[in-house]
Amino acid sequence: MLAYTYKDYGIFELTEKPKPKLLNPKDAIVKITMSSICTSDLHIKHGSVPKAVLGITVGHEMVGVVEEVGAEVKTVKKCDRVTVNVETFCGECFFCKNGFVNNCKSGGWALGCRIDGGQAEYVRVPYAEQGLNKIPDNVSDEQALFVGDILATGFWAAKISEIKKNDTVLIIGAGSTGICTLLCTMLKNPKKIIVCEKDETRRNFVKKHYPNVIVVDPETCLETVNKESENGGADVVIEVAGSENSFKMAWQAARANAIVTIVALYDKPMILPLPDMYGKNLTFKTGGVDGCDCDEILSLIEQGKIDTTPLITHKFPLKDIEKAYEIFENKRENVIKIAIVN
Ligand SMILES: [Zn+2]
Ligand SMILES: [Zn+2]
Repeated sequence: MLAYTYKDYGIFELTEKPKPKLLNPKDAIVKITMSSICTSDLHIKHGSVPKAVLGITVGHEMVGVVEEVGAEVKTVKKCDRVTVNVETFCGECFFCKNGFVNNCKSGGWALGCRIDGGQAEYVRVPYAEQGLNKIPDNVSDEQALFVGDILATGFWAAKISEIKKNDTVLIIGAGSTGICTLLCTMLKNPKKIIVCEKDETRRNFVKKHYPNVIVVDPETCLETVNKESENGGADVVIEVAGSENSFKMAWQAARANAIVTIVALYDKPMILPLPDMYGKNLTFKTGGVDGCDCDEILSLIEQGKIDTTPLITHKFPLKDIEKAYEIFENKRENVIKIAIVN
């Protein structure tokens, strides 16, 4: 089968590999129908994910059809359409039982990082009962594509941020994860949502699709937040951008006693200047995603409450994945997300 492979630092290549086999009774094999490219794939390519293993198939956002299940897999069966979760988790350890699946004692980000992932024709999914969720019949592959990764992240970020009806929520960053966070924040019906984004194309995307959202650039962000909130800052700030400036803005834009949720992954340490923020009494919550709400997310999609299909700006067949990466990596043609179709 064709598999997009991490060959060496800086090099991904489309290669031929044998079709995966079941290795454990909790495994499933999924025939992939659609996958996507994530910024984390680029992090692997550029060597900033030390855990990534050379030779693995990359890709961790995908949907498909169950081809085969191990003897202990009961929740899905052959021919079921499924989403694949970016996180592998056992469902049985202390962390899993408390919903903290990101810290599962025998899991974490494995697919497309430490074991073969989904930019291929087939994938082996460990702990398939936790890693696969059935797609409702009236939900398309396009609608379900981001459920296991960026949409799970947005859903989790909105959930832990304790958003209330009268809140002004600031979301920093309107890349694809920022937009997923926005969609899930909208479900909480806060009084106002402000999105701060430095890229004009992304700002225009948010303005076009979500007219009720206040869109600002970083230069005018603090001023707008102060004007639009009643108590000197945002009640909730969700930081999805991941730069030094956006980190600083997150705590500066927050009102006293606010919740600041850090979803972003930084490429270096950030400094909390505690003397400057003394007395502000902020609560910080930090990533990564506990991706265990996929059934609920699929149900919200089925009810028409979440739609991420506008994020798919490009489609390519797997054989042309090289071209897709070239566009995604260089942010050409106003790309947001690319669907790789098998
Ligand atoms: Zn990802
Ligand atoms: Zn576990």
